[in-house]
Amino acid sequence: MGRKVTGEEALAWGAWRAGVRFVTGYPGTPSKGVFAALQALASHSPSPVPCPSSRHPDASPVFHWAANEKVALELAIGATLAGYPSLVCVKSVGGNVLLDALMTVNLTGVPSPLVIALGDDPSAWHSQNEQDTRWLALMSELPLLEPTDVKSAAKLMEEAFRLSADFSLPVIVRFPKAFATATDEVDEPLPLPVPNPSSLAPSEIGFAPSPDALPSIASGGNALRLHARLHEKLRQVERAYETLLERLSTAMGQGATERWDGDIAVLAVGFCATKVRAVLEAVGDLSQPLRFVPLVTTFPLPRRWLLDALAGVAAVLVVEEGEPIVETQLKALMHEARSPCAVRGKLTGELPREGELTLRRIGLALRALTELPLERVEGLPDPQRPQGFTLRFCDGCPYPPFLEALMAACREKGWELVVASDPGCSIVAIGKPYELVRIKHSMGGAVNFVAALAKLERNPCRRYIAIVGDSDFFHGALLGILNAAYWRAPMAVIVADNGGAAFTGGQPHLGSGFDAAGEFVPPLRMEALLTAAGIPTKVVSSFDADALTESVRWVLDYGDELRALIVREPCPFVPVWTEQGLKRKKTEGKIVGE
Ligand code: SF4
Repeated sequence: MGRKVTGEEALAWGAWRAGVRFVTGYPGTPSKGVFAALQALASHSPSPVPCPSSRHPDASPVFHWAANEKVALELAIGATLAGYPSLVCVKSVGGNVLLDALMTVNLTGVPSPLVIALGDDPSAWHSQNEQDTRWLALMSELPLLEPTDVKSAAKLMEEAFRLSADFSLPVIVRFPKAFATATDEVDEPLPLPVPNPSSLAPSEIGFAPSPDALPSIASGGNALRLHARLHEKLRQVERAYETLLERLSTAMGQGATERWDGDIAVLAVGFCATKVRAVLEAVGDLSQPLRFVPLVTTFPLPRRWLLDALAGVAAVLVVEEGEPIVETQLKALMHEARSPCAVRGKLTGELPREGELTLRRIGLALRALTELPLERVEGLPDPQRPQGFTLRFCDGCPYPPFLEALMAACREKGWELVVASDPGCSIVAIGKPYELVRIKHSMGGAVNFVAALAKLERNPCRRYIAIVGDSDFFHGALLGILNAAYWRAPMAVIVADNGGAAFTGGQPHLGSGFDAAGEFVPPLRMEALLTAAGIPTKVVSSFDADALTESVRWVLDYGDELRALIVREPCPFVPVWTEQGLKRKKTEGKIVGE
């Protein structure tokens, strides 16, 4: 039976139907919705889908929000060694964190399916940049799929698990924010088992998975041999894409490989296919036919399939979200094939290199190749990400009291504040009325930027402060704090302990006291970790005005050492333990992170 779902839910349904058994990641937008939707499926289903490619076909799925993305991927690799088909949910910048592990698991391969659901954020609606994380697939030489629409996304995710099983390789499924939040009617997940890869003859798939998962070693002693094997797998993946595209096409009517006639073509990559369709529907009848080629298999490029799909066209407009990755590869392919087809897109200026591709931007690019009525194109939506820092804290937020105490203490002493912050709710203090945060880059980075600045500059008129969120603390800041203490950087670290990943919806971390399943787990105490490292540390509530003033003065008076102040007050939107189990103080009125 059909139900209206988001793109993230559709991907979750596909992973469920493929028999996923271990779901991990680090919360971020987009991608956290895939994790949440799988949890919802698991809680509403009496028994999981049997998964013959798992050594534990009847095991219930395990859910775990990891300390960071690298930890998540490494856990998932371990889970596949235990025979658990696994899914890692991360957003764009999280891909940077897991890269280290990705660059060796591509060589060793995985004995059970492993898929990475990777959400990108063109226009940086919820992120510090708008990076195109598809580069990671090219760098790690791993298969990359991109859903073209919500309706076909579940099937695509199933295919990703199948591909991973067939070639014993991690597979990346990349999607942009617009896909994550788009909705369509999709069939409810049914208990459809994935094909058992061990039942396929090795000649059919080339790389039958070993019944013995170990050893899993990438080292100089075998790196060249494994690299050559990876290249051979990629050649076979490219050929396998042709049957994958056929299966998608059969399963979804025209959803995956539809083509229209015409000697001008649009190659719409991933979710851009939905956008191009919307543009063509909005502008009405075209004065000349247009060939429409949606592409879901972005890397390796299905070269034979593409040459066939684009045979005879005079020009092709490549519409892709992010960098001109397909466009660049297609240019090389057409040159190699001595095709007269002109490849147009971002490199040739028809489409902009920055910002999300809106319907109007796509419409204007199409107008450069074919006749479209200008007045209709100009009427297409063109939402732009406003530039500037205008966020404000939610009502009842524990941040403002300690920020104000910090500013008051420095005013009193005549100190200039030099504040760095990690990503998260503290970025609100970049804008008015605070204008406090002056350095902000990556998760866990604030401490390191300030440590070097404080150590090398040593301006007595300045107070050097790193503001770290609680989730940042466990994600990447702790190591930097230990390093700064070891290096004797004179500075203050203020940890805003809000009880969970407040910015992204209150997901738990190692210090929250509950896990992804909502069960109680003894929290790791930050103060115990810091004092064990010899760092003078105090804990204070944000709402205890007198103690807060005194504690802020204490931490700013750091002298030649590193001092830490933990400001502990749960965010009202993060669940906390009560006698009735997990409860949020507030469920409405959240502004930050929405
Ligand atoms: S989500 Fe919570 S911590 Fe973040 S700004 Fe809102 S109230 Fe404050």
